[in-house]
Amino acid sequence: MRHSPHLRAPHLRARAEIDLAALRSNVRALSARVAPGGAALMAVVKADAYGHGMVESARAARQAGARWLGTATPHEALALRAAGIEGPLMCWLWTPGDPWLPCVEADIDVSVSDLWALAEVRDAARRAGRTARVQLKADTGLGRSGCQPADWTELVATALAGQAAGELTVTGLWSHLACADEPGHPSIDAQLDRFHEMAEHAEKAGVEPEVRHIANSAAALTLPRTHFDLVRVGIALYGISPSPDIGRPEDFGLRPVMTLSASLAQVKGVPAGHGVGYGHTHTTGHDTTLGLVPAGYADGIPRQASGHGPLLIEGETAWRRVAGRVAMDQFTVDLGGATLAPGSRALLFGPGDRGEPTAQDWADAAGTIAYEIVTRIGPRVPRVFLNESTTPTDARGSWEAAWSR
Ligand SMILES: *Cc1c(COP(=O)(O)O)cnc(C)c1O
Repeated sequence: MRHSPHLRAPHLRARAEIDLAALRSNVRALSARVAPGGAALMAVVKADAYGHGMVESARAARQAGARWLGTATPHEALALRAAGIEGPLMCWLWTPGDPWLPCVEADIDVSVSDLWALAEVRDAARRAGRTARVQLKADTGLGRSGCQPADWTELVATALAGQAAGELTVTGLWSHLACADEPGHPSIDAQLDRFHEMAEHAEKAGVEPEVRHIANSAAALTLPRTHFDLVRVGIALYGISPSPDIGRPEDFGLRPVMTLSASLAQVKGVPAGHGVGYGHTHTTGHDTTLGLVPAGYADGIPRQASGHGPLLIEGETAWRRVAGRVAMDQFTVDLGGATLAPGSRALLFGPGDRGEPTAQDWADAAGTIAYEIVTRIGPRVPRVFLNESTTPTDARGSWEAAWSR
């Protein structure tokens, strides 16, 4: 792993605290939301669990009752198995020549959208002497991965030939929505109609899927008719709303899991009229103090948030903002004359308990989505895992303990 799961060093340049009690509580809240309709939960932990640490997040999600785990690439799924994580696990983003054989041997559900992929998985199953678990993906209108309706009949028939030969079992039928975060968008029902048709066609041909699924976080939260047997939840697991338009995390009983902070590396007085940072895009309006935050775009702080990104400095109550440009490793904040001690902590984003900004606030400042803010926090930022045990812990209490360390 690229970051230590048990890092506890109190004095860090920058750190991303990962509150696993909050993650477990989000899993329970999401499960409770979809369980009445009979759907199970897939915890999507691709992209290092959206920057939160894949193995630790996957373990926490399982502890809290997530039946399935999902990743994009087969390499991510194999890394979960290598860490000893068992049980239902699916990956969906395949390229010719990818590691089908180890995935078949590791009992990972593989997604197939094309005949080439079916040929590669059938070959791997024959070599492994095992039955592969294959989920067929339909493109019901997203226009990204998945099998077009016109090609579906042949894909299903070829998969059933592989099933008859004992090479594979079709374990699932699935698809993905384009506009689930815009409730009322006409594409949602159009995609659902198509999914029903394509699933029905496959089932009439002889497929007996264990699971049918199409919902992501937004659909899991707002569109019960999309839940089927399983919802694939990513961003909501990490306590972030898929879109501010559908609600805030707390509206859904969710709590942000990541708190990003840094320790001021320098605090110094400068005169009025002093340029700040590359390009001198900011100039001090009066005699002031500048704080140096030792984190930059190499750490995932978006350069697009130059001049805008918000932060709350320990001991203060009002946000301050990035002054000038975000550089690769650092940026400056105008402290307005305050003489803070070097080493003072600056909270870039977190759950908001102390009035600090959230990942959504950074997304707004950078003109992007909160998914990108957390996912891009880089490998140079240590993840510090809080509340790894399953003993019930008050997440707020643990966060405050982290603050005062
Ligand atoms: C990333 C991903 C998800 C999770 O999406 P969220 O909006 O984060 O819940 C679900 N399904 C697929 C196919 C994905 O790629």
